Parts: sequence; C-alpha cells; structure tokens
Amino acid sequence: MSESTKVEVLAVGTELLLGQIVDTNSTWLSQRLSEVGLTCYFQGKVGDNLDRIVLAMRSALARSDVLIVCGGLGPTQDDITREAISVVANQPLISDRDLERLIQEKFTSKGREMPSNNLRQAQVPRGSQIISPDLGTAPGLIVPIGNKRIYALPGVPVEMKDMVDRCVIDDILLRVQDRSTISSRTLRIWGVSESRLSELIAPVFEELDQHPGNVTLAFLASGIDGIRIRITARVSSDQEADSVLSAYESSLREILGNLVYGVDNFGMEDALLDLLSKGNETLAIAESITAGLVASRLGRTPGISRVLKGALVAYNNQAKFDLLKVTNGLVISHECALEMAMGVRELFGSTIGLALTGVAGPDLQEEQPPGTVFVACAIGDHKPKSRKLMLPGNRISVQELAAISAMDFLRNSLIS
Ligand code: ATP
Ligand code: MG
Repeated sequence: MSESTKVEVLAVGTELLLGQIVDTNSTWLSQRLSEVGLTCYFQGKVGDNLDRIVLAMRSALARSDVLIVCGGLGPTQDDITREAISVVANQPLISDRDLERLIQEKFTSKGREMPSNNLRQAQVPRGSQIISPDLGTAPGLIVPIGNKRIYALPGVPVEMKDMVDRCVIDDILLRVQDRSTISSRTLRIWGVSESRLSELIAPVFEELDQHPGNVTLAFLASGIDGIRIRITARVSSDQEADSVLSAYESSLREILGNLVYGVDNFGMEDALLDLLSKGNETLAIAESITAGLVASRLGRTPGISRVLKGALVAYNNQAKFDLLKVTNGLVISHECALEMAMGVRELFGSTIGLALTGVAGPDLQEEQPPGTVFVACAIGDHKPKSRKLMLPGNRISVQELAAISAMDFLRNSLIS
C-alpha cells in the first residue's frame, strides 16, 4: 500500500436499511481514520443478504485498498459476514480450535451454558487472522485478499471501537508510508444567507482551485447554529496543520468580520460571556416569545453567573405592564421590546437589558404573522436599540431562531 491508501467502510445489517437503527459505526470509523491521517473514500450499507454483501465487498475491493466491515459477525443465522468473506476471499470456513475454546470459556466463566450456535463464531475463512473478542463473543477478522485487506468487526459499537483502537488502526498504519494528518477548524457564522456567504467567500474558493491538494473548504448549514465553514487541511505535522488552518481562518475573517461568532466548540453563548466579561457588564433578560430559552441557553455555559444577573419570562401582556412597566398598548412592537429591555435592566439592576417579544404562531397576534419578532437591548448610557425580524418555520423553530438572533443582536451591539 502506498501514498494514499484508500479505505472504505461497509456497514452490514438489514436494520440499517430499514432505518431502525442509525449507522453510527461508520461515522465513528471515519472520524477515527481521519484522526490518524487515513482517508475514508466510501461508506456503504448493505442488508443481511449473502449475494448483496458479496457484491458490496467485491466492488469495495475493486476500488479501495482496505475494507472495514462492521456487523453480522454474531452467532445467529442472519449473521453472514463470515460466509460472505469466505466467498470473496475464495477460502473455505474452517473451525478455529483456539477460538472455540475461548468462546466456550467466556460462557463457562459466567456460569452460562453455551448455545451451540455460538460455535459458528469460531468459523473463520482460512488464512485469516483473528482479533480476540475482549468485550463480547464475536471475534474480529483480518483477511488478506491479494495485497488488500478486509477487517471484519462486530456491529456492537463498544466491541467494534475496542478492536479498532486495539489493533485495526495500527495494522493499517503499519502498511502505510504516508503518515499525514488531517486537521480541521470550523468557523461559525450568523447573520447572512448561505447564498450571500458563498458569494462573499468566492475569492477564497478560487484561490483553493488554483492550488488544489491539501486544503478543502466545506459549507455546513446548521439551522439554529447558523452556517459553518469547515477548513480541512491534510498535512504532515500538527504544527503545519495549525499554520495552514490559521492562514485560511485569517483570510475568511478578513472577508467576514463580525459575521464569525465562534470557532469549533466556541458558540454564541461563549462569545457573549467573553464580551460581557471583558466590558465588565452585567445582563438581565426579559423574554416573552422565547419563554426563557435565551436564559436557558446562556445558563448552560460555565462561568455565566459572573455576568448574568437574571431573566424574567413576561409572557402574558399584563406581566409586561406590571413587572416591566411597559406602557399599556401593542406588545408586538419596537416600543414594547425597548421598554421591556429597559424595564428588566432596572428590575435586576444590571448594566444591560435584553428583550424579545413576538409571534411564535400558529395564529396571528395583533394582526401580525407568526415569525414576527422584535428584539431590543439597552446598554449603559447608549440609546436603546431594537430590531424587527421575520423568522421562518413552525413555533419551535421561530423560538429557537429568535433566541440565537437576540444573542447575536446583543453580540453585535457590544462589539460596535
Ligand atoms: P452480535 O454478536 O451482537 O450479533 P454482530 O456483529 O452480529 O454482533 P449485528 O448483529 O450486526 O452485529 O449488530 C448488533 C447490534 O449492534 C445491533 O443490534 C445494533 O444495536 C448495533 N449495530 C450494528 N451495526 C451498527 C452500526 N452500523 N451502527 C450502530 N450500531 C450498530
Ligand atoms: Mg448479530
């Protein structure tokens, strides 16, 4: 195996195709492979059917160097991965005496009688190497096919992961000269549409096209988290990765400025905590439409108690009038949001008040359609500001979008 070893993952199990379970094994495997600098070129899924498993394995081996198969190694009749490998490798299944004894012992040591079916698990294609089943009873297999290899692993996630970390990765790497690593960094963006964003960063994409190879950019629309741009670099050391990723991060930030609210796991809440702490500010929140969602999101962030004084869910109109001293009148309005922000700031004695009011739906309110939201913030001596938003989706999505929009509104107000 040379420079770019092609690895491929095949998940076996009819329940995967029926949508009864989610194929988390492939996701985990791909992550692990990329962490050690190996590239997964294809992921496949196939049901418990001999002909189709054989077909899937043959196509995989035709284009890839390494095939990792997971699932179908159990003791029951529908576990036929061993049979399929035996066909593909053109090697008969033979009983491995040591394995028989090992499986037998696993039952005896637990004081259980071994169903004879379990002996099926001791049948392995001739010429294959066994990965001992430390956590379950299904052994894994390493099967050489010409200069390629199949690794067959159990479907049960903990058993599969144990074998990958215990021997599969090392076994693959032993055969690979190219030890490059893959690193990525994700910029989190809020406040711009996907199409506008792609226009904005077109120059960076063009530059990448001119120097194809080691760096790729990907767009990930992430709903209430906004849009993410993931920069991935394939380089020979962590140090090099860091400098390449940083260079691309700077180019993107130069174009996007404050639209970038975070990087990797640093989210909107962290951005606010950071800005509020640096400015020695304290925050109070008045929530109507979101019923506490903003406070709850902020509350998940360690250290937020330093800056968050409190929040009030003023849901009913009367609560706004009584508790926040809002002028009796229309509550889906700039005026109401502004008065809520000033009212809650006074109530909690904070330096900043943030407020949200709006229509979550499905019905109209004050003749305004669902998705109409007003956010306001009152910061120190500055003139309080408000903004009207029109948010898409159902009740839940309007609330979620309102919460992050309000946080982003505050973030931008703190920056400017
Ligand atoms: P067993 O000895 O348990 O039968 P096995 O190798 O035959 O192991 P499967 O029967 O295919 O594995 O799957 C066992 C269980 O592992 C499934 O019921 C499922 O819960 C889980 N599983 C299987 N494949 C996957 C997958 N691709 N992603 C996540 N979980 C999986
Ligand atoms: Mg099974």
